Amino acid sequence: MKFAAFADRAAAIEAESADLEIVDMVTDLLVAADDDLRTVARFVQGRVFPAHDSTTLDVGPTLCYEAIARAAGPNVSAADVESRLADLGDIGAVAASYDFGGQRGLGAFGDGSAGDLTVAEVERRLRELAAAEGPGSQETKLDVLFGLFNRSSPEEARYLARIVLSEMRIGVGEGTVRDAIAAAFDVPHEEVARALQVTNDYGLVAEIAREEGGKGLADRRLEIGRPVKSMLAQAGTVADALDDWGRVAIEWKYDGARVSVHYDGDDVWLFSRNMEDVTDPLPEVVSFVEDHLDAPAILDGEVVAVDADGTPLPFQEILRRFRRKHDVAKAREEVEVEFYAFDCLHADGEDLLDRPLVARHERLASLLDDGVTRRWITDDPDEIAEIEAESLAAGHEGIMLKNPESAYTPGRRGKNWLKRKPDVETLDLVVTGAEWGEGRRAEFLGTFLLSVRDGEGFETIGKVATGITDETLAELTDRLEPHVRGQDGKTVDIAPAVVFEVGYEEIQASPTYSSGYALRFPRFLGVREDKDPADADSLERVERLAEAQ
Ligand code: ATP
Repeated sequence: MKFAAFADRAAAIEAESADLEIVDMVTDLLVAADDDLRTVARFVQGRVFPAHDSTTLDVGPTLCYEAIARAAGPNVSAADVESRLADLGDIGAVAASYDFGGQRGLGAFGDGSAGDLTVAEVERRLRELAAAEGPGSQETKLDVLFGLFNRSSPEEARYLARIVLSEMRIGVGEGTVRDAIAAAFDVPHEEVARALQVTNDYGLVAEIAREEGGKGLADRRLEIGRPVKSMLAQAGTVADALDDWGRVAIEWKYDGARVSVHYDGDDVWLFSRNMEDVTDPLPEVVSFVEDHLDAPAILDGEVVAVDADGTPLPFQEILRRFRRKHDVAKAREEVEVEFYAFDCLHADGEDLLDRPLVARHERLASLLDDGVTRRWITDDPDEIAEIEAESLAAGHEGIMLKNPESAYTPGRRGKNWLKRKPDVETLDLVVTGAEWGEGRRAEFLGTFLLSVRDGEGFETIGKVATGITDETLAELTDRLEPHVRGQDGKTVDIAPAVVFEVGYEEIQASPTYSSGYALRFPRFLGVREDKDPADADSLERVERLAEAQ
């Protein structure tokens, strides 16, 4: 395909505002691309390399301005280009505003290439440009760019400049290209989406869709060493998780940076959540994987910075390490890192994306003999609260709630992984009853009945049993015992005297308690030493909060 034909179509797409029309136009472009399909599917998004490939052109704006200036003639300087950009606000419009051609120089391709630019040649030249490194590489890059601009018509220059600076801006996003591939080659949408998740290469997927159809797409597998996007989480509550799934997989939420591990039995690659290669800055994770991973695999996990005692450090510390390209040994002395694996996408030749979380985790535990995240499966909110308290006490960020049956969906922020939202509001409630504990807690009052203030009296709203350590239970028992008014079996009636601050996820209308409301997932946060029962929250406030949810 001539590069001019590509530029014409890009201009037409840019002029269109209706999404469906744009999909149709990209569909036509893909069909017309012929041998250049791979490149066109990338160029149309302003990409030269597939998303999984961290190669860059490494052309800064200044170099691009210089190349444009050189192709525009001796009277134009890079500063002129920059000031025109300040007026026009788009490098494409700037490049299109000059009359290129006729300039002589090294980059004017002394190798005999002449005539119209093709998509294939532009791609080839840009790859050459990307490969230039070491001393003199900036000069080589400038020569290549100059050569390309020098042979460009205004319209070609417009899109060349935008591709070079990754600012395509013609209204074509990833979703547009996905839809266009499905339409152009008559393959199911889901197959295209899945193949993209696995390969992160629009060019490759377009070509397979055309050459091999839906079956070819379905056959795409993960490849060790080729990164995939991370599955992401939404904010959610324990109540949401229990309502939707019944049983919940709980994991500690580490406060570090996401890292996926690829290991082919010999080599290790580490990638960040944006598929950037972070192998070099994290040598101790590489050694850890070599020592503890039994078979070729792709794992997902978190890298956490720790101090000398193993206590987690704030996650900025780990990001600092990510950026460290040089002097890694010194950085290692400053901050140690640990890797915790929480998922397994591929094990020993088998892709596991579609397997349920529990099965993937079992596989993970069988492959990795250390560093597997702790996980529990339960339907008991009290147990969840204990796990959360333990995680926080160990210096971690909290908990993740995951659907035990869910597949791994790369790049999706779905509903199957929830990060538990911190409590927004708290309530100050009066203790009006309690129950004696069981087992080792038989000596202590364990479950506390809570009430809101209603006029002169108190109405019950829930019970809290979680978030309380043994030590605190002992203290609370001492505090409350003098106020016990009566006892029936294990249940005691307590006169209003002590106020608890309580966290919760939701207030629900409920006939269970005399206030007409109940708290979902209530947790003890502390005693409001400064408050008397008369200062506790009122039923009116609870009504307002319930309405505002
Ligand atoms: P966002 O993903 O919303 O942009 P973020 O990157 O700050 O925000 P959070 O959404 O707060 O991260 O939490 C999700 C992140 O938590 C994951 O991307 C991962 O890095 C981290 N994490 C820590 N422990 C776990 C775990 N057990 N399971 C999944 N993710 C975990």
